[in-house]
Amino acid sequence: RILWYGSPPPRNVLKQRSLAVVPGDAQALVEGAEPPAVPAPRAAVLDAAGFANARQLRAAYHQLSCPVLVLAPAESAPSILRWLRPADDLALSEAPKELLLYRLRQLDAQRSRSLDALSGLPRRRQLYEALQRLLPLCSEAHPLTLLLIDIDHFKRLNDMHGHMAGDQVIRELGAIVASAAPQAEELARYGGEEFAVLLGSGEARGRATGEALRQAIAEHAFPDDIAITVSVGLSATATPITAEQLVQQADEAIYAAKAAGRDRVVSYSELERDAAARDEDVALASFENLTQVVAQRVTEMLTWRGRRLFERLRLQAENDALTGLYARRYLDRRLNHEVEVAHGESLELCAALFDL
Ligand code: GH3
Ligand code: MG
Ligand code: MG
Repeated sequence: RILWYGSPPPRNVLKQRSLAVVPGDAQALVEGAEPPAVPAPRAAVLDAAGFANARQLRAAYHQLSCPVLVLAPAESAPSILRWLRPADDLALSEAPKELLLYRLRQLDAQRSRSLDALSGLPRRRQLYEALQRLLPLCSEAHPLTLLLIDIDHFKRLNDMHGHMAGDQVIRELGAIVASAAPQAEELARYGGEEFAVLLGSGEARGRATGEALRQAIAEHAFPDDIAITVSVGLSATATPITAEQLVQQADEAIYAAKAAGRDRVVSYSELERDAAARDEDVALASFENLTQVVAQRVTEMLTWRGRRLFERLRLQAENDALTGLYARRYLDRRLNHEVEVAHGESLELCAALFDL
């Protein structure tokens, strides 16, 4: 969506359904209440006419971390240009409506260019920007929950179905994540096969969203009947901790979910509770989860690579390089088995030898 503050959006803009322009609450934005209360906009328009003075317009502007188009009369342009960030834009109130629409489309395209090409989601940097904007405003009334989502056994999927199939899964997951969390403050492809959802809610609602997301992914029909599950790590806070702390906690929760068998949602507070019940340090429990998961990943990788190596060697040994047909060795290996099957099921077997 594109949020429009300060005046009712003009009709020619509202008619452009692809822009999805919705009115925002300018007063709430000036008071710093609007961003945590509404999902993060794709871009925003600030119409100077709807703000009491230049100071309020500027205060509202600094609440927004998305691309912004300021709409103002020509006489206030010089002072606005002094604080406008280079990535943002200014349009004159007296300019033709078509020009405003053109500028809005440009702003929207600018946002699209900053998205990850494969998943269509924002990148990690945008998540950190949202965290840096929202964490300082965090309180009991405005808690934040971060979900980190990591695909289970993705290396195996790449090995079995190829990287193109893996890419397709990431593409489809981007759409599932976006539709399962429409109320998110920010979404991101956090890394290779990891996604992040930042919610302006506490742990209980965050867990419900994480669970719905996990289920939607497990039930989604991916091409080639590929079955996908994800492990979700959740960290919630009602105090302004740092972005790094919040991410670190969600990451530790992912490793706990992986160590417990994958395909589940685990919260950092659960880890803390379990560690306290065992009179153990949560850092130690996290370290054990990490070593367990890394060991599993290494074992799995070696097993798969070893298996593929063996299969390639067997294929070479059982195929005649010149004709591309099976070699004698293949026949020797299969023949005993075929004869047994034929006996067991009282079938006839026929062998034909050709001689040039
Ligand atoms: P685990 O359940 O423990 O998470 O197992 P995993 O195999 O998913 O392990 P890990 O998360 O460490 O592996 C991530 C793999 O994802 C490594 C890399 O080959 C693959 N990957 C990362 N980015 C991409 C991508 O853009 N496309 C494809 N096809 N694969 C990717
Ligand atoms: Mg990973
Ligand atoms: Mg993974």
